[in-house]
Amino acid sequence: MNCIFCNIINKQEAAEVLFENDKIISFLDIRPVNYGHTLVIPKIHYENFLSVSYDDLSRLIEATQILCNALVKSLEPDGFNIVANNGTAAGQSVFHFHFHIIPRFNTDEFKFRPMIKKYNNGLMKEYADKIRLAINS
Ligand code: AMP
Ligand code: ZN
Repeated sequence: MNCIFCNIINKQEAAEVLFENDKIISFLDIRPVNYGHTLVIPKIHYENFLSVSYDDLSRLIEATQILCNALVKSLEPDGFNIVANNGTAAGQSVFHFHFHIIPRFNTDEFKFRPMIKKYNNGLMKEYADKIRLAINS
């Protein structure tokens, strides 16, 4: 398996590393939405959110908060997004799970503007029932 993020972890690929501990590494995204766009990844190769172990997920969240604090302190953005794309349909292009932290500015050009759907005739409850059933099974 040739994974660009595993190569960064193994130091076979260069990266602008911001933070590293025994479980997690964080570095700048080479194609930033805004300058300072950061990736936070577990050192173990997990394909997506569902496969990450609970322990590594906890450590990943902890590191993500450390990085968010550092970005807010150093870059003084007006806000930030934490994003994780899971699956090709969701825009995932590197199949080693990661969080994106995107510093946001009131003046930036980056927009999340989805087309909003409307639930009609009990459809909302239908969806909620389906999901609730899956939680309990
Ligand atoms: P995603 O599309 O959610 O899977 O995100 C993958 C991200 O990894 C993209 O935003 C890429 O710009 C970024 N990326 C790919 N290769 C590298 C690399 N060698 N160093 C830093 N970031 C990378
Ligand atoms: Zn990997």
